[in-house]
Amino acid sequence: MSTSFSPIPKPPIDKFEVTPNLNYDTDLDGFDWQTIMDELDWLPGGGLNKAHEAIDRHALNPETANKLAMIWEGKNGEREDYTFADMKEQSDKFANVLKSLGIELGDRVFIFMERVPELYFAFFGILKAGAVAGPLFSAFGPDPVKDRMEDAGAKILVTQPDLRRKVTEIIPHLPELQHIIVVNKDNRDPEPLDAQDLSYEVEMAKASAEFQITNTSQNDYSIMHYTSGTTGKPKGAIHRHHAVIQQYSTGKWALDFHPDDLYWCTADPGWVTGTSYGMIAPWTNGVTQLIYEGGFRASYWYELIQKYKVTVWYTAPTAIRMLMKAGDELPKKYDFSSLRFAASVGEPLNPEAVVWGKDVLGHVFHDNWWQTETGAILCANYASSEIRPGSMGRPIPGVELAILDEDFKPVGPGQDGNLAVRPGWPSMFQHYWQKTDMYNSRFKRGWYITGDTANVDKDGYFWFVGRADDVINTAGHLVGPFEVESALIEHEAVAEAGVIGKPDPIAMELVKAFVSLKEGFEPSEKLRRDIMRFVRSKMAAAVAPREIEFIDSLPKTRSGKIMRRLLKARELGLPEGDTSTLEDD
Ligand code: AMP
Repeated sequence: MSTSFSPIPKPPIDKFEVTPNLNYDTDLDGFDWQTIMDELDWLPGGGLNKAHEAIDRHALNPETANKLAMIWEGKNGEREDYTFADMKEQSDKFANVLKSLGIELGDRVFIFMERVPELYFAFFGILKAGAVAGPLFSAFGPDPVKDRMEDAGAKILVTQPDLRRKVTEIIPHLPELQHIIVVNKDNRDPEPLDAQDLSYEVEMAKASAEFQITNTSQNDYSIMHYTSGTTGKPKGAIHRHHAVIQQYSTGKWALDFHPDDLYWCTADPGWVTGTSYGMIAPWTNGVTQLIYEGGFRASYWYELIQKYKVTVWYTAPTAIRMLMKAGDELPKKYDFSSLRFAASVGEPLNPEAVVWGKDVLGHVFHDNWWQTETGAILCANYASSEIRPGSMGRPIPGVELAILDEDFKPVGPGQDGNLAVRPGWPSMFQHYWQKTDMYNSRFKRGWYITGDTANVDKDGYFWFVGRADDVINTAGHLVGPFEVESALIEHEAVAEAGVIGKPDPIAMELVKAFVSLKEGFEPSEKLRRDIMRFVRSKMAAAVAPREIEFIDSLPKTRSGKIMRRLLKARELGLPEGDTSTLEDD
């Protein structure tokens, strides 16, 4: 919790170019979620739908209908602009397509796409139709797509030709899947369709541009994101339309959205940040968003900020560390004067990175904390308050965070423990899809246990310490070691595998696998590379092992469980025999 960096005080409020939406130190007395609920529009019958709050309410208001909602830049430099009225029209059409295919309230519709505008139209069309959107990371290989869609019983998949081809082999294993809708953006693909698929363009051309949003209640499910744990396959954390209350309000408080902002969120919609803060939060606040289809390139990211005059930027620590690595000379070539607020999430943000932001971009990065299950930011450094570099800030209004000991009782300032949240925050997940026991196991003595360890200082700032489980955080992606081990042992040469997170200066952790081979196979560089390629093609390069080490046998508990913590202790060179905290059953 201690840091050698001094707190960065904020100037008085009247020195800001815009007044921050929340003055954390004075505005919290008498806070009531009802005030926020009253700022939303709600459906005519009193229901709630995220698509109405994010899109239609602005499209139906003559003052904002023609305001730009999305500025899209494709990976080949193409540009398309969409107003809120355009977004309404396209998502209404897609909702009609879904209805014509028999989609009903609560059906799961999955999206497996690059960041093209049609992803966003489909997403809001799904919500309008009353279905549940399941966005998938486009870099996934066939295994993660199959695991998620099979578990969720997805009825429709919306995808693109190259991604469709990538998952061909899994389609026969998805008995509940009824249709595949293929978006052939700008006719990029000469052979887009398999005979059984539907063309997005053909279906949209037939669809009416008027749709009456399904009268969802605030408790109806809206979005599911799969997240990894220590054991088993990923679990589908499912959220209600009710979550919009907190996604909207944290957009105002933690990202300090103002109506004239040009906002850029670098997260992919396959992960929760890309939906909560890449769609719902900015658009419920009526903000114009830049969506960039391409990947990371330091010089081009700087250019995007300059070119589009980005005012609010939400990115991730790994990206910031990669920018730092690209050197301090490069950013001097760009003009960042438009930038007003920068924030970061997903991994610990080292104090050096916070301060680097101030030196190089003219803005510190405001770290904030949350997770898939929380649905929205729960802890943040605010525009109005002092920043403590290395801290993830203070709880958002209306949310109680605590540090608990092993008996789930609160501990005092400065002591490490389990980071926990008092249940009942508006964007709280409602379930792990069809895994009730696992969902219930996250709640103890009246608290939701986050799985992170942290501490809190005497002024109420929270400091991240680590994960309480074996889950690996590589470049902001949570990776369950079990998933990677399962993929590894499908390789013909692999007898057993144990997977850990190995510390890395840029990505925080790299996935490292220890592998023992079957009789008849010998360790070699060629085999190592072959196993790596095998896992990468099944899963995704981003979450596959970067390192594989062959060992004769893996350390196990008496009941045969692989002792990942012992592997990690050895990797880190911890003293021999330091196994007192290792699991043993
Ligand atoms: P996910 O559910 O994939 O969004 O990952 C959530 C996890 O990422 C958290 O439980 C933390 O372990 C980590 N995380 C998110 N934000 C931060 C942060 N600001 N500082 C440290 N770790 C973070």
